[in-house]
Amino acid sequence: MLDQADFLNAVASAECALEPLELLRRCNALEAALGRDRSRERVKGPRTLDLDILLFGTEIIDLPALTVPHPGMTERAFVLRPLLELEPDLADPRTGRVFADFLASVETQGIYPAGLAALY
Ligand code: ADP
Ligand code: MG
Repeated sequence: MLDQADFLNAVASAECALEPLELLRRCNALEAALGRDRSRERVKGPRTLDLDILLFGTEIIDLPALTVPHPGMTERAFVLRPLLELEPDLADPRTGRVFADFLASVETQGIYPAGLAALY
């Protein structure tokens, strides 16, 4: 959604001893602790914090509450750019395609490194 203030995106990589659904539950608890109230949001509109699980190693997960790899990640430059900074050669476990390939076909206008925000 373009009709909203700028927002900051980041990708983190970590080792995880939790099951994927438990990780999702804790992400949701963190969102709530930082003031997120889904009942007051517009779809794809502003939110205080949105923690998504992009990948879980090379696992493919298709559960009602959790889809991994995250279904929207290959269409969003604001996800692909910071992901590729961390892991430039990473490939999509569903298709085997490297994520760098997807970046060529997504809209990158309006997306810039946070440190350069003052120049835009
Ligand atoms: P968005 O899709 O914009 O992140 P929400 O944060 O409101 O929207 O997420 C809606 C639901 O998406 C969550 O309640 C969660 O159960 C589900 N979901 C499915 N797959 C994932 C994933 N990989 N990471 C995070 N949430 C997911
Ligand atoms: Mg989310």
